[in-house]
Amino acid sequence: MSDMQAEQEFFEEGSLVGVLTAEPLDRVLDYKAPEGGCWMGAFVQVPLGPRKVLGVVWGPGRGDWDPAKIRSVLKVLDVAPMRAEMREFLTRVGSYTLTPLSQMLRLATRAPGLADPPSMRKLYRMGYGEPDRMTDARTRVIAVLEEYGGVSFTLGELSEMAGVTSSVIKGLVKQGVVEEFDTPRDVPYLPLDPERDGKELTEAQAGAAAQICEGIRAGRYGTTLLKGVTGSGKTEVYLEAVAECLRQGRQALVLLPEIALTSEFLTRVKARFGAEPAEWHSGVTMTERRRCWRMVGQGAAQLIVGARSALYLPFRDLGLIVVDEEHDTSYKQEDGALYNARDMSVLRASLNDAQVVLASATPSLESWWNAESGKYTRIDLTDRFGPAVMPDMRAIDMRGEDLPGNRWISPTLQGAVRARLQAGEQALLFLNRRGYAPVTICRACGEQVGCDHCDARMVEHRFLKRLMCHQCGETKPMPEACPSCGVEGKMAPVGPGVERLAEEAAALFPEAKQAVLSSDLFGSARALKARIAEIAEGETDIIIGTQLVAKGHNFPRLTLVGVIDADLGLQGSDLRAAERTFQLMRQVAGRAGRAEKPGTALLQSFQPDHPVIRAILSGDEEGFWRAEADERRATGMPPFGRLAGIVISAPEAAAAFDLGTHLARSDAPIRAIDGIVYGPAPAPIARIRGRHRVRLLVKAPKGAPIQNALRQWLGGLKLPNNLRVAVDIDPQSFY
Ligand code: ADP
Ligand code: ZN
Repeated sequence: MSDMQAEQEFFEEGSLVGVLTAEPLDRVLDYKAPEGGCWMGAFVQVPLGPRKVLGVVWGPGRGDWDPAKIRSVLKVLDVAPMRAEMREFLTRVGSYTLTPLSQMLRLATRAPGLADPPSMRKLYRMGYGEPDRMTDARTRVIAVLEEYGGVSFTLGELSEMAGVTSSVIKGLVKQGVVEEFDTPRDVPYLPLDPERDGKELTEAQAGAAAQICEGIRAGRYGTTLLKGVTGSGKTEVYLEAVAECLRQGRQALVLLPEIALTSEFLTRVKARFGAEPAEWHSGVTMTERRRCWRMVGQGAAQLIVGARSALYLPFRDLGLIVVDEEHDTSYKQEDGALYNARDMSVLRASLNDAQVVLASATPSLESWWNAESGKYTRIDLTDRFGPAVMPDMRAIDMRGEDLPGNRWISPTLQGAVRARLQAGEQALLFLNRRGYAPVTICRACGEQVGCDHCDARMVEHRFLKRLMCHQCGETKPMPEACPSCGVEGKMAPVGPGVERLAEEAAALFPEAKQAVLSSDLFGSARALKARIAEIAEGETDIIIGTQLVAKGHNFPRLTLVGVIDADLGLQGSDLRAAERTFQLMRQVAGRAGRAEKPGTALLQSFQPDHPVIRAILSGDEEGFWRAEADERRATGMPPFGRLAGIVISAPEAAAAFDLGTHLARSDAPIRAIDGIVYGPAPAPIARIRGRHRVRLLVKAPKGAPIQNALRQWLGGLKLPNNLRVAVDIDPQSFY
């Protein structure tokens, strides 16, 4: 950072500044500093052709433009300037992922109306006037305002609380009985108090917390892998770290993989610190987003709970990043800028002298290895808190079960569910497949209904009464007649999805109250949160769910988990198939027996002797990781080598292949770093949204400068308009 200090910090009016915009241009543009000058990093509005666009002062101007044509910055926005470490962060992530800076800036400015003047809203409180006459409605309004002392309300809140229409309140405003006033919408978040008492920690928890807090107090960078079985109190431990960070007057960020997690989490934060944190994820309204972005920049939000893109918020002084469920695949952004929020958290923290806590019951192999090799500190919490113990895990050998082809709940599993129902406990049936049936087939001709735009089968969703492509989201009605042979009434579902499983469970256990949890069944994050809260309360007897339920939720009455198809995911050609199956099964099994009652997990499998299934059942995690690591080391795969995926897409398959072949033949820059190019081959999903996809895979030794080589290799390409090339560094999935 030392060259940062030498940078010019202020630009006088009229001097040249370089402004980075979020527009897809390949350079920073020169402008004249506006009246009053501007600071380095200032957010500005600049003219670009006929438009006004948002930008950031990125440095002095280059001065290689006709001075007569250089225009002035229109205005400096009323938000905190982008800090040097943030500019450095965006630059580094961009160069690591080969993402243009303009696109990085877009990620860092994903709040609406940043250029608008502070927006105001009207609030209502008790005034001084006397009403000309009293009515019931008026009395209620006054009663509410009196009851709450000096508190102000919005029109909506006040009319709801008093049970009156807004015109009643407006009438009182006219007479001065109620006062109406304007106030800025973007208000600071309520302060969090780190000195409130937390839970009394166990010895192991307290030791873990002390170790992390020491790093925070020292104000230096460090990453800790906090590994602990579900329910061991990882959240309690990192909340202590958050408390220490707040005591130091610095900001903390907690990343969660799934917005569904936040409702439970917000309640815990409130109980610990006396107020709720700021939230940043797709379920947050535009107004709230804007408030969050601005307040984070001013330091008026101490703790932010968010999804991966919260990493790009303009923190004033970030001291701690927690990545909860760090192995979760949703941390990898799969379109646009292809970054992994877990890895980028580590980068961001190192630029900010901040601490990172990666929490998981089943860490990614990468993090496990980084701890093994000493790059990260590892802390283990081996026991569950209190009397809860790890579930008893067993396989149900499906080869020995007597089950018709269109049924999925084995007699053994049925018996176990029945026993739980009788004991008044909850059971969870887990199947990682949305919809009713994965395949719809014509029993007359054998045709399978596919998507018109993708190489994917259409999945029947009975709940929505449509067929849906899980690749592109296209839906169509269930056809009466076969689209291929025209025979009517022969279309039939094949295989199970959660909706079909629910049907089977309802028939088997008609007296049980059942709930299906699958991401597509809920219109909004709010509805989903509400449902999860209801289930946690214990209203439900049988929960049927997709991987949504595998994550973090706490269902105290749950004592049985039945995994319908433990083999799903083992067959993939994916490098990480074994690792994912291992993590998912352990997470799901971790749902059972979180409170006092011991849990049981039953895994239905046709290959109970598979090494992954055996590792899950025996609980020999270190053994599993060591075996998996040896395998990858032998083949030079990550984390022992580097990979980059290149996907070429085009309307015509031939054009994509031609470019792929051309690239494979001109691989000198890759060979120069001892790398190898594999392909071109059709991507596992060879067509998405009508575009044909061809894939190349680059493998290079661990320390090789793969980004530079890729830039040289791909930099000179002249692409026709309809051809696209996407680069994925450290690819997570291979589609
Ligand atoms: P994890 O994050 O590892 O899954 P949690 O922190 O959510 O574990 O803890 C599991 C449950 O145990 C939670 O309900 C939590 O409040 C409770 N718990 C954990 N540690 C303690 C403690 N020291 N005192 C009281 N309750 C605790
Ligand atoms: Zn499709």
